[in-house]
Formats: sequence, C-alpha cells, structure tokens
Amino acid sequence: MWSSVDQQTKINSFVNGLHVGKVHHAYLVLGPQNSGKGFFAIKMAQAVNCTGTNAPCGTCVPCSKIWLGTHPDVEMIDSHSFNESTANAKILKDVAREIRSKANLRPYEAKYRVFLIGEAKKMTLHTANALLKLLEEPEPNVLYILVASSEQDLLPTVASRCQKIRLNKMSVTDTVEFLIQEAGVDISDATEMAQLAQAGIEWEGDRENDRTNLLQIRARFANISSVIESSLKSQLKYADQLVSKWSENDEAVRDEIQLWLNWWRDLLMVKIGMPSLVICSSQIDELDRNADKYEVSGIKSAIAVIQETIDCLDHNVNPKLAIPYMVLHAGLKNVTHGANGFAFKH
Ligand SMILES: [Zn+2]
Repeated sequence: MWSSVDQQTKINSFVNGLHVGKVHHAYLVLGPQNSGKGFFAIKMAQAVNCTGTNAPCGTCVPCSKIWLGTHPDVEMIDSHSFNESTANAKILKDVAREIRSKANLRPYEAKYRVFLIGEAKKMTLHTANALLKLLEEPEPNVLYILVASSEQDLLPTVASRCQKIRLNKMSVTDTVEFLIQEAGVDISDATEMAQLAQAGIEWEGDRENDRTNLLQIRARFANISSVIESSLKSQLKYADQLVSKWSENDEAVRDEIQLWLNWWRDLLMVKIGMPSLVICSSQIDELDRNADKYEVSGIKSAIAVIQETIDCLDHNVNPKLAIPYMVLHAGLKNVTHGANGFAFKH
C-alpha cells in the first residue's frame, strides 16, 4: 500500500511498539493539510487489529473492513458531530454517550475497539471535557486516535493525555512527487493520485500515461454514479455489458467492481463527515449530492453486497448471476432504510 518514507517510518515504529506491548490508549496524529494524517490514522487502526503477517497488511479481513469503514469495532467520528454550533446539543450528548457506552464494551471481533476522531479541533469545550473524562479513565483494549493540524487546536489537558505522532507536509509517493517536480503535474491531480494510490491504484511515473489513467478513473467513477441513478433498464444493460466482458477480460471487470466498492466507500466517508478520507477527491461534489440520499446503514449494505459479489466471483459463482445481482442491489436507488424488500444485512 502507498506510503511516504516519513509515514512508513512512523507506522513501523508504531508497529514495533505494538510488538513489545507499548500501546498508549490515546494518540494524536498531527500534520498539515495534505499530509495524509487521516489515512495514517486508518493505518494505525489497521495495525492494531491486523491478522496478516506484516501489519498493517491492508488485505486481511479486519484491514479491509477498517479501510471500507465497515468494521464494527472501529468508529470513525466526525468532529462536526461534536460541534454545538453546527449540530444540536442532543447530537452532541448522544455522541459523547455513545462513545462512553461503546468504550465499555469488549470489542466484537477485533483486538482493540478504536475511536478515530477526525479534525479534533472542531470539538467544543463541552465535548473536549467529555472526551477528557474517557481519556482519564481508559478502558483496556480501547484506543483513541485523534487527528488535528496542530496541538493548539485541542485543550491542553486533552493533548497532554495523547501520545503525539507528527507527520511532515505533503506525504506523497515518490512517483507522484516526481510527477509534480519533474513533469509539472498539477498539485491537485497529484494529491488525488496519491489518494487513489491508497486504494491500490498504481501509477507508472509517466506523465502522459498517468494523466490519461487519472482521467479514465474519474470518468469511470462518474459513470458508476450515473448507473446508480439510472433506470432499471439501463442498470441491466450495464450489468449485461460487464457479463459479456467477463469472458474476454475478467480482470477488467474485477477492476470495475473494485471501483464500485471504492465509490461506495467514498460515499460513506462523505456521509460520516470524513471528506478528507475520500480517494477520488475530484468527485467530492457528486458524492456530496448523493450522500443526502442514503443512510449510513444503506451505504454499508451496498458495500457488503459488493464484497459478497467479489467473494462469489473468487469462488467461481457464475458471473451471469453474480454481476447483475450486485448492480441491482448495490445500485438500488433509495436504499435509505435498507428495507426495500431485499435482504440487506446491516
Ligand atoms: Zn491486515
């Protein structure tokens, strides 16, 4: 998985600490904009719960679920939910209460229950105090990861209870850095390329080809949006095209299904208020528009359907059955309540 040298060194030292049992109950990941601090926090959550050989492997079941935002023991909490000026006091209280009650539970399936709190500076004094109480009486197997641009964004009492990890600016791949510096690629393109690399998309380091690939990915993402919004007839036609393509190039179809997964994952990140974790950032307006149409549970159901489809295809289930099933279920409009007559699992 993509990482800058800076991040790789820091995640390695975190993992080495894990091996010798040196885990703090709270971390504060600090870094300027575009330092990839949110992605780093995800890697930490993966590292403590990874079941692969080289944590965080990014591919084992816990790592995948954490990446997709669907792991039951890893809560991603938007600090906007904490903000009294944008949310009402009831939500604020609910979030604090929810954290408190969940922190007391043992993890369902992970080693650690993780609370990842994005842009911690948005916290109000009231919430920061509520969080402080949790940090003062840490439960075993509970890990808090706060993300902020600067230590000054937090109450000193909160910051002092966290182990700090400072990231350097603009942690991008060597390839992307090369594209910016040597080939003059636009910084926003390069940032998006670094984010897409997080999802396993590989870049060649060739300006022309990489630019073409980037434009293609954007177009395919936009196409998935339009398929999801289209009529049943168009969805069936699209599914049919994928099925026909399968016999000549199943890899390309698998790739497309992976993009479906990323599309829904990005939608989930927007929906839970973590837009900095979106990988196809040029689609953010489109995702924003879509986020209002779905409930979190509906988005998670769509992700589960796509994952099941990938699993079925890996186990030689007939693509003529599996692919239309996925397109119709994950592409189902108005999965808002996850109860449209289809058995969506929560
Ligand atoms: Zn793993």
